[in-house]
Amino acid sequence: MHGNPAKLEKLSIPWHISANNIIFLIFECNRIFYLFMRKLFQTHILGCSAATPTSLRHTTAQLLQYHNKNFLLDCAEGAQKQLRRLRLPMMKIDHIFISHLHGDHYLGLPGLLFSYHLLGRDRKLHIYSPPGLQEIIELQFKASKHVPAYIIEFHEITEGKQIIYEDKHLSVETMEMWHRLPTFGYLFREKPALPNMSKEAIALYDIPVEQINNIKAGKDFTTPQGEVIPNEKLITPAPLPRSFAFCSDTGYTEQYLEQISGVDLLYHEATFLQDKAAIAREKTHCTTFEAATIAAKAQVKQLMLGHYSARYDDMALFEKEARSVFPNTLLAQEGMKIVVGEDS
Ligand SMILES: [Zn+2]
Ligand SMILES: [Zn+2]
Repeated sequence: MHGNPAKLEKLSIPWHISANNIIFLIFECNRIFYLFMRKLFQTHILGCSAATPTSLRHTTAQLLQYHNKNFLLDCAEGAQKQLRRLRLPMMKIDHIFISHLHGDHYLGLPGLLFSYHLLGRDRKLHIYSPPGLQEIIELQFKASKHVPAYIIEFHEITEGKQIIYEDKHLSVETMEMWHRLPTFGYLFREKPALPNMSKEAIALYDIPVEQINNIKAGKDFTTPQGEVIPNEKLITPAPLPRSFAFCSDTGYTEQYLEQISGVDLLYHEATFLQDKAAIAREKTHCTTFEAATIAAKAQVKQLMLGHYSARYDDMALFEKEARSVFPNTLLAQEGMKIVVGEDS
């Protein structure tokens, strides 16, 4: 087949492009990709009711997605059905973080684990929780005379401020809550990325490709004439790393304030409106004002409330009360997806 020669000429590869031009092109593409295609970091609300489900709300569970990883945060009754209903990648969850062993935070877990077995899961599953969960789960499998078709590795959490998960891009740290049972929050922190090279600097100083990694790691560049070009003239800074804190359940305490300082998105329980402050204290839960006060003191970028008492149907007052203390507050609602750092 022969095309129009003029057209072919226009489409032909411009072989005169220099190696440096190609390098610029690669860096430019990387930079654009980096700016506009930051790694996925978002949480899906599967349930946000406290204690018991209502006709409108399930109890606590969230699917947090970071890049190509799926983390389940709490797994209350109905979480599996919610994952299916929202068409989320249930089979690709490899790490489950349970805050504590009150039923409204883990009673969906046995069902999910049995489904994994019946569906032939063979990927290893990690479960992080305060002590006691392994015994509960093993007893349930034993009673049904099933041996899970996949490996479950239990990680007992007994302390706050511990890094319990880490990969190339992300770490997860525990936070000690104040509640009637040992309870932990989980803090997801993106690791800082390397800065990008400035394409103008590459051209201006004719920087060889083998120097790029050193410069990105913070080194200055010395020209063949001996002039030292400081690192800040050679790079464009990477976007700031993002963070998400999951704090439920807890009474008002400032013991994890420092850990959540400046996070992009804080999910914090607010079980009651402010007029029920005495009940909240007695039951070691928070009110709207208290959750918003934590957000304000920690100077987080955005607050999301959840874990609403089943006694409430109209949530407008939750928003109003919290916003009077911390304006950038939103209310968790089932089916909602919130991108971390989008509203920072
Ligand atoms: Zn709860
Ligand atoms: Zn609880």
